[in-house]
Amino acid sequence: MLESLRSIVQEVTAAKEFDSVLDIIVRRVKSVMSSSICSIYLCDQTDGAFVLMATDGLNPESIRNVRLAPTQGLVGLVAARAEPVNLDDAEAHPNFAYFPETGEKPFNAFLGVPIIHHRRVLGVLIVQEAERRFDESEEAFLVTVSAQLAGVIAHAEAVGDLSRMLLPEAQAADLQFEQIFMGLPSAPGIGIGQAVVIAAPASLEGVPRRTSTDTVGELHNFRTALKATKQDMRALSESMEGKLNHEELALFDVYVRMLDDHSLGGEVIASIKSGLTAQSAWSQVVLEHIRLFESMEDPYLRERATDVRDLGRRVLSRLQQTEKRRYEYPENVILVGEELTATAFTEVPVEMVRGIVSVEGSRNSHMAILGRAMGIPTIMGAVDLPWGDMDGRDLIVDGYQGRVITAPTLQTFDVYQQQMEDERLLAADLEVLRDEPCVTEDGCQISLWVNTGLRIDTLMSIDHGAEGVGLYRTEIPFLMRDRFPSESEQVKEYREQLEMFAPRTVTMRTLDIGGDKALPYFPIQEDNPFLGWRGIRVTLDHPEIFLAQVRAMMRASEGLDNLSILLPMISNISELDASMELVNRAFIELTEEEGYKLSRPKVGVMIEVPASVYQVRELARRADFLSVGTNDLTQYLLAVDRNNPRVAELYHSYHPALLQALLHVVREASAENTPVSVCGEMAGDPLGAVLLMGMGYRVLSMSAASLMRVKAMLRQITLQEAEGLIQHVLGFQDSAAIRAYLEEALDRPGLSALFRPGTLH
Ligand code: PEP
Ligand code: MG
Repeated sequence: MLESLRSIVQEVTAAKEFDSVLDIIVRRVKSVMSSSICSIYLCDQTDGAFVLMATDGLNPESIRNVRLAPTQGLVGLVAARAEPVNLDDAEAHPNFAYFPETGEKPFNAFLGVPIIHHRRVLGVLIVQEAERRFDESEEAFLVTVSAQLAGVIAHAEAVGDLSRMLLPEAQAADLQFEQIFMGLPSAPGIGIGQAVVIAAPASLEGVPRRTSTDTVGELHNFRTALKATKQDMRALSESMEGKLNHEELALFDVYVRMLDDHSLGGEVIASIKSGLTAQSAWSQVVLEHIRLFESMEDPYLRERATDVRDLGRRVLSRLQQTEKRRYEYPENVILVGEELTATAFTEVPVEMVRGIVSVEGSRNSHMAILGRAMGIPTIMGAVDLPWGDMDGRDLIVDGYQGRVITAPTLQTFDVYQQQMEDERLLAADLEVLRDEPCVTEDGCQISLWVNTGLRIDTLMSIDHGAEGVGLYRTEIPFLMRDRFPSESEQVKEYREQLEMFAPRTVTMRTLDIGGDKALPYFPIQEDNPFLGWRGIRVTLDHPEIFLAQVRAMMRASEGLDNLSILLPMISNISELDASMELVNRAFIELTEEEGYKLSRPKVGVMIEVPASVYQVRELARRADFLSVGTNDLTQYLLAVDRNNPRVAELYHSYHPALLQALLHVVREASAENTPVSVCGEMAGDPLGAVLLMGMGYRVLSMSAASLMRVKAMLRQITLQEAEGLIQHVLGFQDSAAIRAYLEEALDRPGLSALFRPGTLH
């Protein structure tokens, strides 16, 4: 059964159209289970009805014509109970409903299982049989098939394939539905424009479907690329002579022959003549062949898919070299790609980019960091977006909610256009606060600091009147290189940062790699990277890296004396002790042996793992200051990966457990008279900032883009009100209730626009 399941899933994955997916499922399941009928009913979201979408065994004419109300018939029963229904006499069941158009004969045995994705019943998969009852193992098999296929069906629903199938054919053909794809909000703001898909070099799947009117030019490019690849193959084959045996060498000839006109080459030429660009035609034809090989039973032939892919990539990279980009970019570009990297900006000038959408990647990916730094609304991890089809499409990027909206209706477009305009006005209004202090109406002073990493953040921070740097993420200079930076290279970078802010404090965090931040030249392969070798754990294991870094920080601070050092991911007191020892050693070396004139930097600890919350008193006694990293603290406290879109809905910044932890930290730190700040995203969220102030935090560090909003918020409320709010919400059971209460309590003119984008009017 496992083998059958594997091959069904493989065939389904290889299918191009959604209706063939459904056909494959019913045909293969019927055959594997030796049943008389197999059918799929899917839920039409417009009215909740279950529609017969595919069948092997019933009258094919009845497909799409049989509709059952949500709880009607046995199908409705399976859906309503969200569990399998296995009957030996279906007709005797009170829910049985007969549809003559299906041509259904008296098939007594009925087994129906729900198709469920993320708790939602998408449809029902059914097998029927005249004579026998389906046994338990068959029921288990059908449940397994259904669970495996639910993702494919959910995807078809998400991309509109299902809605298209439910419409009459004539209407469905050209219809583009407005669709919303969710991802991780990674840089705030609204972006409206047209998608430009950026393909990863030589990624066959990454080539968007593009048409061209210059068929002659495309054919020429293709032939040139083929010729060059054939030459490469021959040269490779010659260079391998003597190293490979005859049969192995023959593989190169096979490759060369595959490129001939009567093989792959011929198909591609036909496709170019039908109007596709050479790159699009080549990748489509090759992908089809790969799918074909991958679905073959014979393991030897299945393996050939790898050869075709290899060949495909070779020709494609040749094409990408020869084919100069001749496309006109739209005025407002939304960059879209499977895994966008900063190299996208070498193709499209940054001034034209209004939004960024990447299917893969997280909030910490390089592209997300750039998006935030440059103020371009960015969404990462938009896993369901059919990015290959997006080129040239109208898109809206909602960087607040993590939404990508394709083919927006006029109404949606207007709403977002208005929101963009509101944002612009709000930003202009907030400008006047630049040099005003952040003091509440009842006189409580809050220091607003910034988080930096890129040069551009630094410039923006100074522009926004930041009082200091609460978190300088040093991994960014490390990420931009192809090896560890030397001590003097680091001195240069750090000096620049310290000078720009002097005399204001700059809090430099020691290298926090691991988790999802891997250095290209220092890969860390782990099954569970967020619980693995990360932050201080890596640098304490490599004192040479740690020492070089803290030495560079201290050397850079000579004469400025505005450096603080922050240690990430401390989960044991011994880690703090060991780090302190290394910092002291570096300080003594520099001042006593090498003659630097330095004052000892303050050393602080990040509170970002639950263990440190419960040992905060001991940590506060040893450290000069504490800084709470709410991003990681939330993920570790709630056991929710901060970068996994599947569980993004569970990542709650107002979770009562998190609020309790934050309150505990500020009380314990204050009892030790140790300064404590917050440098996670919560500090930059106007409502989060109110809660933190109410708890007792007086230093908040955030991205420069959030600074003015938070300042505007805190200047318009009183400390007393914030304290009252936190006392009140601590009694609530869940974050949704807390958020709703805060929004209502602060729904006042001048305030609501700060936490609810688009509510200026
Ligand atoms: C945090 O974890 O809250 C934090 C500020 O650090 P980072 O986002 O870099 O992990
Ligand atoms: Mg962190």
